[in-house]
Amino acid sequence: MTENSRPLVAVITGASSGIGEATARHLASAGYRVALLARRVDRLESLAAEIGDGAIAIEADVTDRDALVAAALRVQDELGGADVLVNNAGLMLLGPFGSEQKDDYKRMIDVNLLGAMTATEVFLDQLTANGAGDIINISSVAGRTAVAVNGVYAATKWGLNGWSEALRQQLKPAVRVTVVEPGAVATELPQHTTHEGMRQGIQQLYSTVEVTGDDIAEVITFAVTRPRHFAIHEVMARPSGE
Ligand code: NDP
Repeated sequence: MTENSRPLVAVITGASSGIGEATARHLASAGYRVALLARRVDRLESLAAEIGDGAIAIEADVTDRDALVAAALRVQDELGGADVLVNNAGLMLLGPFGSEQKDDYKRMIDVNLLGAMTATEVFLDQLTANGAGDIINISSVAGRTAVAVNGVYAATKWGLNGWSEALRQQLKPAVRVTVVEPGAVATELPQHTTHEGMRQGIQQLYSTVEVTGDDIAEVITFAVTRPRHFAIHEVMARPSGE
């Protein structure tokens, strides 16, 4: 509950599948009202209906600032404002660096990096209003490492990490900023890869992964439910054998 006794509210981008969907369920179980954002609104509506308890589904592409502004207005009007923002929406479009993938690079930067920045900018007034906000930025092990085929994906996640640290220093202690860096998690993420050979390889690799969105959602829920004097800034969470 906030000081004025309304339930805490969590906004989750990319809540239509994978880590975002699991995070919505876990935060709702922990007592948060959840606002579910993504483009596939049919999935969001099913999830909101399943969760109940004031959960709302909002169709919003994180590359569309007007859609995010409209989402923020709904969260303010219908739920009283956001206390937690989980910047989770993301794309991992792997492939060797070159002109063939040039559209993928722009999409990843627009969604993974600029999308998180725009959502944060749009929700910032709500997150700071009560002096007790949380921003969770879903980065990746690729925010600390890089391999030949993930250069631009890694660049978006390294960028997210650098920006998060600056944001943490700017907003502390009123808003805590946490970076979560998962290793492989069994989700739809590899399915969107446009490079044919790469998609097959990465899907095969992911077919053996046992870590699920629920594992990462538990980390996020743990971080935001710590007492306000304590902040978890960074968590790298991988399959044990990775
Ligand atoms: P999923 O593909 O299952 O989920 C990605 C989510 O992002 C979907 O809900 C999708 O919703 C949303 N999304 C994509 N583009 C946009 C957009 N333009 N606007 C709004 N939402 C968008 O994959 P994950 O759950 O695995 O990915 C979630 C995050 O976790 C990503 O940031 C990813 O980089 C990160 N991550 C994942 C790892 C993994 O191994 N799975 C490892 C490390 C990090 P919709 O299509 O409906 O818009």
